[in-house]
Amino acid sequence: MNYKNYPRRHYLQYPTPIEHLPQLSNYLGCGVEIFVKRDDLLPGAAGGNKTRKLEFLVADALKEGADTLITCGSMQSNHCRLTASWAVKEGLDCHLILKSGSESSYKEDNTSGNYFLNKLLGAKIGDIVHANSDLDSLMIDKADLLKQEGKRPYIIPIGGSNSIGTIGYVACAEETIAQLRAMKLDINHIVIPSGSAGTQAGIIAGMTHINDNIQVHGINVSRKKIEQENLVLNLANETAGKLGYSDKIPKDFVTCYDEYVGEGYAIPTKEMIETVKLFARLEGLLLDPVYSGKAAAGMLDLIKQGKFKKGSKILFFHTGGVPALYSYMNCWK
Ligand SMILES: *Cc1c(COP(=O)(O)O)cnc(C)c1O
Repeated sequence: MNYKNYPRRHYLQYPTPIEHLPQLSNYLGCGVEIFVKRDDLLPGAAGGNKTRKLEFLVADALKEGADTLITCGSMQSNHCRLTASWAVKEGLDCHLILKSGSESSYKEDNTSGNYFLNKLLGAKIGDIVHANSDLDSLMIDKADLLKQEGKRPYIIPIGGSNSIGTIGYVACAEETIAQLRAMKLDINHIVIPSGSAGTQAGIIAGMTHINDNIQVHGINVSRKKIEQENLVLNLANETAGKLGYSDKIPKDFVTCYDEYVGEGYAIPTKEMIETVKLFARLEGLLLDPVYSGKAAAGMLDLIKQGKFKKGSKILFFHTGGVPALYSYMNCWK
């Protein structure tokens, strides 16, 4: 695929594993088989999906001659942690703009998890900003300040989800299809968490280009269905356009579900709590409370509703986020 023309840092030495979850599949007893793509095992401090986007984003930063990365996210952002981690590896400075959570009944422990890891990795973190702050303009202000100090900053948008970062998941679509062919494994559905949208958009752009007919189901972690579907579709088309793919991706290739968000982003749901425990105890697999836990809860509910035909094979993308478990320990007490 022609993303090969884009500069890329090769952070992955091997494809991430695809594993069968026989005990979970048996337990559900609905005649579907569940497999997992272990993107939680990607390289970079404590792993997770942002490493694939950063292969292309950091390469672009280096091409531009940057010596500093700036990005933003929530207090428990996995994207910030992985940006900080790859910045260390590349010898770049890293500035993070972190926002506090929205007002909710649940207060995660923000002294631990990713916030702690960001500090351990030496990222520069200023004052925590209000949940409703305009993070894009704060990053531009930070870049201006750093330029006055003679630095060469490069801004990475929230979640790494622009058309450059999204190429990482186009490459992942190709990797996954090659792996499934080698394993002679016929997958009918992919289930994937959908946040800043680059992961789902890249998979859809890649799958559409390869002309594979696996259906992709995004489980929202924050937005409403239509809003998220538009975000994914636009980013998928923008990325496909950048790569010179001629065909527009049809609207009905993009499906998102908003039934599993609960009260809001990063606020635990009862189903997430149960699902994280179930995966841990049946498969020894650690999900996270914000993304993969809610996405897996959504997948189990869709299976129970009979959304997937008997005999279907489902590939669940485990996108990482495990460090956030430590800041949500109270959920399992
Ligand atoms: C960022 C993130 C996601 C969502 O990916 P997007 O590309 O932002 O939609 C899913 N899981 C984890 C663990 C993440 O950190």
